[in-house]
Amino acid sequence: MNLLRRKLFKAISFYSFLLFFPIKSLYASSKKIINKKLSKEQKDIMFNQGTERAFTSSLLNEKRKGTYHCANCGALLFDSVAKYDSGTGWPSFTEAVPGAFNTKVDYSFGMKRIEYHCATCGAHHGHVFADGPGNTGKRFCNNGLCLIFKPSE
Ligand SMILES: [Zn+2]
Repeated sequence: MNLLRRKLFKAISFYSFLLFFPIKSLYASSKKIINKKLSKEQKDIMFNQGTERAFTSSLLNEKRKGTYHCANCGALLFDSVAKYDSGTGWPSFTEAVPGAFNTKVDYSFGMKRIEYHCATCGAHHGHVFADGPGNTGKRFCNNGLCLIFKPSE
């Protein structure tokens, strides 16, 4: 009887390991720090839903042609043709590269907003609003610290 119980216990522990392992690894792969050189502020924004102070980003006045990439994983997120000055104090874009982001509804601060995060690494980047100019009508309001700009020339 004791032996049977022990065997059963062993079997349960073995199978529960199988059950939890994929869930844990899936979660880890959906949100993870890849760039070990991220600053404290970058980690706070990208992994704790923080926001950089308005008008502090060095990318606000960036007007060169090029591409914008995720500061954590390097994924291509925006083309400079989509960038515009929204006057809000954060780098703003009318459209993202297709498939670059996933979104979710964010109810923090008593507002209903659409949060978006990198589809590759899960890092939070900003919120998307429906008051943008141009054909898309969208305004991607992105924390500058989450972006790496690569000029094309
Ligand atoms: Zn990323």
